[in-house]
Amino acid sequence: MDTHCHIYWEGLIERIDEVVAHARAAHVERMVVPGINAETSREAQKLAGRFNQVYFAAGLHPSEVKSRDPIDPESFLTPFAGDPRFVAVGEIGLDFRHRRSGRIDSDLETAQMEAFRLQVEWAAAYDIPVIIHNRDAGSEILSILQEIPHARGVFHCFDGSKRTLRFATERDFFVSYAGNLTYPRAQNLRATLRLAPMDKIVVETDAPWLTPQPRRGSTNEPAYLVETVAQMALALEKSPEIVRIKLLTNSLRLFGIDRS
Ligand SMILES: [Zn+2]
Repeated sequence: MDTHCHIYWEGLIERIDEVVAHARAAHVERMVVPGINAETSREAQKLAGRFNQVYFAAGLHPSEVKSRDPIDPESFLTPFAGDPRFVAVGEIGLDFRHRRSGRIDSDLETAQMEAFRLQVEWAAAYDIPVIIHNRDAGSEILSILQEIPHARGVFHCFDGSKRTLRFATERDFFVSYAGNLTYPRAQNLRATLRLAPMDKIVVETDAPWLTPQPRRGSTNEPAYLVETVAQMALALEKSPEIVRIKLLTNSLRLFGIDRS
């Protein structure tokens, strides 16, 4: 199960039937498609209505937080919540990549933190999992989550942070490994696999981005999940079958999806 892919994105949506058929042929039987704003959340919802294998999440991504007006999660999220294919709030989180260039934009950071906190609180109130995006903001994210004890969900595109892993282990959170796990320089990230409890791990493509190593150069798609799973099995020194079963069970539990 691909726990995170943006198949409404250009490069994939034009050949969506083929993308879904490829996934099925590769035994990627299910996928969760998160929105990044209202428009893409609706596109994700439409895809979930069209394809049996597709579930969707709705949320306002930190990079889409443009103004200081906080979002109203009730009016943003409630329209999606009645849909049986709606499985999570996401993707949401904090993206402080601007700090890498030495720039601190405190207005923007405050607005992102407010949007994140409000959406997590809404999700926690309805016992819905959240899909968390983190870029250079791990400690801010954890401190917000500390204050919302009933929040649960997944750290998408897990960066290997030991603090995040500890938090996920202690609380009702999962870590999701993406295609960057397969990159030659990702030894440290692969090493974290052995520290993570097996029932806390899920996997994703983050398609169309982060194409796994053997497919690099082409647009990522859910079918390529198998490359990341193969690398996981190697790093864990477990059989691919065992790893696949474990990942599927974990993903179904994370999103509250029935096995049948
Ligand atoms: Zn994403």
